[in-house]
Amino acid sequence: MPDTPHVDLQTNRPHSARVYDYIMGGKDNFAADRETAAKVLADWPGLRTSMLANRSCMHRMARYLTGLGVKQFIDVGTGIPSSPNLHEVVQESVPEARIVYIDNDLIVLTHARALLTGTPAGRIAYIQADMRTPEVLLGHPSLHEVIDLKQPVALTVIAMLQFVEDAQGLVESLLEPLSPGSHLAITIPTNELAPESEQLAREYTDRGIPMYLRTRAEVERLFTGMELLDPGVVPMPRWHPAPGDQPLSDTATNMYAAVGRKP
Ligand code: SAH
Repeated sequence: MPDTPHVDLQTNRPHSARVYDYIMGGKDNFAADRETAAKVLADWPGLRTSMLANRSCMHRMARYLTGLGVKQFIDVGTGIPSSPNLHEVVQESVPEARIVYIDNDLIVLTHARALLTGTPAGRIAYIQADMRTPEVLLGHPSLHEVIDLKQPVALTVIAMLQFVEDAQGLVESLLEPLSPGSHLAITIPTNELAPESEQLAREYTDRGIPMYLRTRAEVERLFTGMELLDPGVVPMPRWHPAPGDQPLSDTATNMYAAVGRKP
């Protein structure tokens, strides 16, 4: 277990992971997070639908990637765990799968025990790191204990890049050490679908959580040098919908989804 002696959770300030947790019905949040959540939900009550659709897309991507034979996952911007989390979906079909979770919020660290519980055959690690300095992750011993970078990896960056100004630089530096046959799976907010997105981004930004929305062209650029897999960069509900899924319009979420393969 990571060492957590005197953790300052900075609960007087809203944090993206905890605002998200509150909107999703979780209990790991504080007054400042709930105040921010109330404001953004007042502007766009559909945000909860979009967030739930994001979780559902993450599950579909996990199943799709295991279906392609991927057995190692690096999940960046994990969030406060809500079941089923990535490892649960992945290890359902691949019990020996290895997953490394990374987040920079200390409250996610306090849940590391839940995150670290997987199948006996597989392995899971949790690393606390700020992805704006990806070299901390890439040099981290826990990453290399769990993940063999000589074998293909799926890098999952789910609903996280909106909190990073240089998304392109981050993705490039994380993809660079991955071997051929690795995959990149992204869900990412845009201002091109739900009209409320600009206001939403302003509310987060005004409360000290800068949020950046990306165009489809910018999302496609994240896959430079990769083979973008069918159906390309699409409004999230259109990414390989599962047969029983509730059909959602393009404007019901503010996110694009895509998966690419490193040749
Ligand atoms: N991937 C999860 C959670 C998304 S919320 C899901 O889709 O359900 C975004 C997460 O990214 C939060 O947990 C937040 O703490 C994390 N995050 C934001 N900026 C980060 C950074 N610079 N480095 C690491 N994690 C970050």
